[in-house]
Formats: sequence, structure tokens, C-alpha cells
Amino acid sequence: MTDITTLNLGEEVLALLAEAELERKETEQALRDSEQLYRSLFENMLNGFAYCRVLFEQGQAQDFIYLSVNNAFDTLTGLGQVVGKKVSEVIPGIREADPALFEIYARVALSGIPEYVEIYVQALQRWFSIAVYSPSFEHIVVVFDEISERKKAELELRIAATAFEAQEGIMVTDADTVIMRVNRAFTEITGYTAEDAVGKKPNMLKSGYNDAVFFSDMWQGIQRDGKWQGEIWNRRKTGETFPGWLTITAVAGDDGSITHYVGTLTDITQRKDAETEIRQLAFFDPLTGLPNRRLLLDRLHQALLVSARSQRQGALLFIDLDNFKSLNDNHGHDQGDLLLKQVAQRIVSCVREVDTVARMGGDEFVVMLENLSGRYQEAIVQAERVGGKILSTLNQPYSLGKCEHRSSTSIGVTLFDGQKFSIGELLKQADLAMYQAKMAGRNTLRLFNLEMLAASEARLHLEESLREGLRRDQFILYYQPQVDCDGLLTGAEALVRWQHPCHGLMPPGEFISLAEETGLILPLGNWVLETVCRQLADWSTQKMTDQLTLAVNVSARQFHCPDFVERVFAVLDKTGANPRRLRFELTESLLLDNVDESIAKMTELKTKGVTFALDDFGVGYSSLRYLQLLPLDQLKIDVSFVRDALTDTNDAAIIRTIVALGQTLGLGVIAEGVETKAQCDLLAKLGCHAFQGYLFGIPLPVEALWFGGQK
Ligand code: C2E
Ligand code: CA
Ligand code: CA
Repeated sequence: MTDITTLNLGEEVLALLAEAELERKETEQALRDSEQLYRSLFENMLNGFAYCRVLFEQGQAQDFIYLSVNNAFDTLTGLGQVVGKKVSEVIPGIREADPALFEIYARVALSGIPEYVEIYVQALQRWFSIAVYSPSFEHIVVVFDEISERKKAELELRIAATAFEAQEGIMVTDADTVIMRVNRAFTEITGYTAEDAVGKKPNMLKSGYNDAVFFSDMWQGIQRDGKWQGEIWNRRKTGETFPGWLTITAVAGDDGSITHYVGTLTDITQRKDAETEIRQLAFFDPLTGLPNRRLLLDRLHQALLVSARSQRQGALLFIDLDNFKSLNDNHGHDQGDLLLKQVAQRIVSCVREVDTVARMGGDEFVVMLENLSGRYQEAIVQAERVGGKILSTLNQPYSLGKCEHRSSTSIGVTLFDGQKFSIGELLKQADLAMYQAKMAGRNTLRLFNLEMLAASEARLHLEESLREGLRRDQFILYYQPQVDCDGLLTGAEALVRWQHPCHGLMPPGEFISLAEETGLILPLGNWVLETVCRQLADWSTQKMTDQLTLAVNVSARQFHCPDFVERVFAVLDKTGANPRRLRFELTESLLLDNVDESIAKMTELKTKGVTFALDDFGVGYSSLRYLQLLPLDQLKIDVSFVRDALTDTNDAAIIRTIVALGQTLGLGVIAEGVETKAQCDLLAKLGCHAFQGYLFGIPLPVEALWFGGQK
């Protein structure tokens, strides 16, 4: 039993062994197959794969050695043969460049917890998605893929999304201009939400301000250039219209046909407002709101072109208020401004809407009339009619606050047709004519003519040589004796002469008024005063002459100079002249310009002993009330009364009145222009006992006062 058992056992064992062997082989085959499968999977997978050993140092993962990598590893990283090398060796500087990556590897190696990241690897300059896990202690597996393209696309999407939500309103339409999308800014600007707008057409924003031509130009531009931009007036949901800046871009598909339109819109209300304000400041006078000089010049330029084409005349009216300065000086600039505003309104009321009324500055206005008759004479009548209307309208009293004010105006007119004259010439012509109106006594109108131009050129020339004369000391003083009733010399009037190199000795009548206008009277007057004072100082040293007075004519411009008194005192000091021997001859109009100022200045000068004569007395307004207020010493009867006193009983009566007036006011009276003995006798009979005139001596250089000056 035993043997059989033993035998049986041996067979069984053999069979078992054979079976086991077969099984082992099968298992080995299966393993090989499996490994083959995994290896091929591993080798052919698209993701990069790296199996690494961790190098520990003091318990910390310091580096990693590549134990095996797949094909995709090299394809994705381009690092070549890496097996057996350290990561830090294969990618030098990775530890510094990408510390985050290194930290993840180390962390997974220590913790065994897998991690997944999307990371930009600086050392390789690309984006990767990386999964790391640790299959066993001391080993990690890295499976990764490059995702740079995806990241770029994501970024672009984000940029596009951000851009879409920018400050500018954006609408995207399809090829039929049906709105598909709008952004938040669009809603903010227009008031229409996406629900309102999507499915509608952009003409929902139409304001009605831009016409059909505008839109057809716009679409033509888009078809031609693929885009268009420009200013457009739109209407908000609230109904309010606003100016916008619109850019439309056509989007073309692959085949070149238009698939969408993108419109961007900005609200330019603020910019427009600023533009309007700047325009207002640049072209309009802030006080009156009228066009300013710049705008007038611009319109005049246009008007000349139009008139050349239409053959119609135009006119320029140069308007200047008379005596505006004295209102400003005496009542302040606020009053002046009030007047200017009213004047502006009145002028505007006198012209048609198409005409231009401009303020040139100060109290000067210009009216430009267009489209007058083509015939010169008719156009003159038309322009003068408007000018006359302006004159009389501006003549009406003004109410300035509580006060009533009266003002007159001088107007110069010139016509234009086409471009015969330049803008500058035309303005000069109107200005010259205005100046003539002033010369003609103000409150009137003058039409430009060519003689005015010649006269003005002569004046310009004279002005230049007047300056030259001052520089070259060409002026001299003549003295005309003044005598008492016994014919004894009491003093003289100083009268200036110009020793002109070409014209010889020129009388003051030919240059004083020009010197006044140009301000040259100031240096000239100063020279006269200084010369006279030096003469007085000279005379004061001799008994025969130390009682003589010298009279000096003072012009308005000189007297109104703020430092007139100071200047006189300075000259008196400098020359050492006795102020009691100095007499100023002033005219009535000069003194009445500003009575308070006159009184103040005269009073101050009188403190030193200077005396005053009222020159040309009798021809002025003779406001007796004011005369009483002025600290005068002498009235000088005008030459015109003296001339005809013998034949004209009226003149004789006036002389008698002046003498009586002088006595009442305690003033001396002197007659000028006394040429004959008969005149002198009559004057004496009428009570006048001081004389000046050819009878006693013509104006001559100072030496002649003693020798031969008398006729
Ligand atoms: P005015 O102050 O009335 O001067 C008197 C003018 O009458 C002088 O003319 C004088 O020559 C003239 N005259 C003198 N006696 C007679 C006479 O018997 N018969 C006639 N028909 N005329 C006589 P002149 O020197 O040509 O001066 C003219 C004006 O020029 C002066 O008038 C005065 O207003 C102004 N003027 C003269 N010198 C100066 C000056 O230094 N400064 C200023 N601001 N004006 C001056
Ligand atoms: Ca005089
Ligand atoms: Ca006089």
C-alpha cells in the first residue's frame, strides 16, 4: 500500500511540478506581454513621462535623478539624453529660475501626496501642465504636457473680454447690421441695455441731426476702406442728443466677405463743450459777447471773396465813442463797462442779422455790412443810412445804474468790393475816416476818400521828423512881450518854434496838435518848461529883469499827465527859477475835462507861487459856475474879440463883460492879439489894462525883448 502510495505520490509530484512549470512560463509570458504593453504605452503616450529618484540631503529632497523617460519627454522638452543625470544638471539654473517647480517635486517626494499644476517654466520658456506623484519612497513620477498654445489663446480671450468692457461703447452687428452684442460702456453712454439693443439696428440711436448724405458717405467709406470714423450726433434712450466719436470697422471672414461690423462710440460732449468755450474765448469779446477782432478779420476775408464773386459792395463802419476815456476816468471802469454793453446792444439793433458787429477793443466797434448795391453811389447811401441810424441811436441817453449818461460817437465809413484793397488797408481807411469825423467836431460820420490817405501819410512823415527834431534839438523858444497900460514890459509869453532842416522855421500851429496826439508833446513841453525856467533863473540875477513873468502854454495831454505837478517841481528845483515868475496858460476845455483834477493840481502848484491864466477866454463854453471854483489869476481875452472890437459892438460888449467878470472874481485881465493903437485904446476904455500883440512886439528870440522887438 505504501509503495503504491509512494509511487503515486511521485507521479503526482511530477505532474504538479510540470504544471507549475507551465504556469510559471505562462505567468512569465503574461508578465512580458504586460510589460511590453506598458512599455509601448509608456513610449507612445503623448504626455511626457519621467521616473526619477530623489536625492535626499539631511532629510530634504535636494535633487532628482532621471531613471527613465519616454519619447514624448524629449519631444516636449528637447533636453536629449537625460537618463542617469540630475535634473539640475540637465536644466542648469532651474532651481533659481523655477523654485516653485522644485518645491512641488520635493514636497511630493516627502509627503507622497500627488499634485497637479499648470505652470510657466522659466528655464524652458513655456507653459506646462504637470502631475507629480510618488510611487514609492525615494521615487517620483512626473507626467506632463505643454500647454503654451492653450494659455496664449486663453490670454487673448481675456484681453478681448477686457477690451470689450473698455471705456468706449462697443456694439457688434452681423453683416445686416443687426446688433448682436453691446458692452457695459455702450449702455452707460446710450442708456440702452443689451436687452434693449440686441436684435435692433444701430439707427435706434439716430438723432436726426446728421442727414442722408452723411450716412451715405459713411457707408461708402466703410465699403471702400473697411472702416470709417467721425463725429456723429446720437440720441440717448432718454431722448437727449449728444455728440459722439464713432469708429466702424468691418470684419471680414476667410473668404473676404463681411461677416460683422464693430462700432466703438465715445461720448464727446465734454470735449465739444471745451471746444465751444475755447471758440467763445478766441473769437468773442467777453464783455459784450460780440465777435472780436480776430473773428471780424476772418469774416472780412470771406466777405471780400464773396463780394468779388457777387459784384456787390460791402462797407466797413469804424465806430468810436467820443470822450469815453473821461467817463472811465471819472466814474470808474464799471460804469465804462456798463456803457460799452449798452452801446453793443444798440449797434446790433441797428443792423440786419447777417451783418457783423465786432468790438475791436476799448471803445472801438466795427460794423461790416455785406451785400449792398452793386452800384457805388447807391451803396454809399445805404451805408450812410445805417451809419446815421447808429449815430442817432447811440446819441440817446444811457442809464448807467443811477446816473444818466450822454455820449456821442464818431463813425468812419469805407466801402469794399472784391479784393482791390487788403483787409489791413480797409481797416485803415475806415479808421482814417473815423479820425476825420473826430476832427470835424465829433458826433458825426465821414466817408473815406483818397485825400485822407495822402494827409495821413504826410502826418506819419511829420511825426517821424518831429521825433528826429526832438532828438536833434531843433526847437527854439520865441518870446512875445506883455505890457501894462503904460507900455512897460511886465513879462512875455513863450512860444515854441521848430527850426526844420528842410521847411525852415515852422510855427506851432503846424506841429503842436500832432505832438499832442502822438504824446511827443510830453518831451517837447518838458523842454519848453525847462528852457523858460532857465531863462527866469537867469533874469532873477538882475534888477532890470527880476520882476518879469514868463507865460508857458500847457497842453491837455501834458496837464493830465499824472506826474505833471511833480515834473514841474523837479524842473523848478533843478533850474532854481522863482515859481512866482512862472505862469501857466491853460484853456477852458482842458480845465473842464476833469474839474476836480484841475483844481487839485492847480492848488498844489499854487502852494509854490505858480500862477495861472485862462487862455483864449470867451470862445469856450464859459461855464461860470466852474470858473468860480478854479484858482485862476488871469483871464486872457481871445484874439478873435480883439480883432473885431472896433467894428463889432457885440465883441466890444463881450470884452466889457469879461473885464467885469475878472473884477468880480478878483482876476487880472489881459488882451492878446493887439495890433493897433486904436484897439489898445478901446481895450483900455473898456477896462483892460494889460496887453500882448504885434503892436508891442512880435514873438522873437529872447534878446529881441530889449532890442527892436517892438513894431
Ligand atoms: P496862443 O497861446 O493863443 O498864442 C498866441 C498866438 O497868437 C501866437 O501864435 C502868436 O504869434 C500870435 N499872435 C501874437 N500877437 C498877435 C497879433 O497881434 N495878431 C495876431 N494875429 N496874432 C498874434 P503862435 O506862436 O503861432 O502860436 C500858436 C499857438 O500854438 C499858441 O496859441 C499856443 O496855443 C500854441 N503854442 C505855442 N507855443 C506852445 C508851447 O510851447 N506849448 C504848447 N502846448 N502850445 C504852444
Ligand atoms: Ca497862449
Ligand atoms: Ca491865446
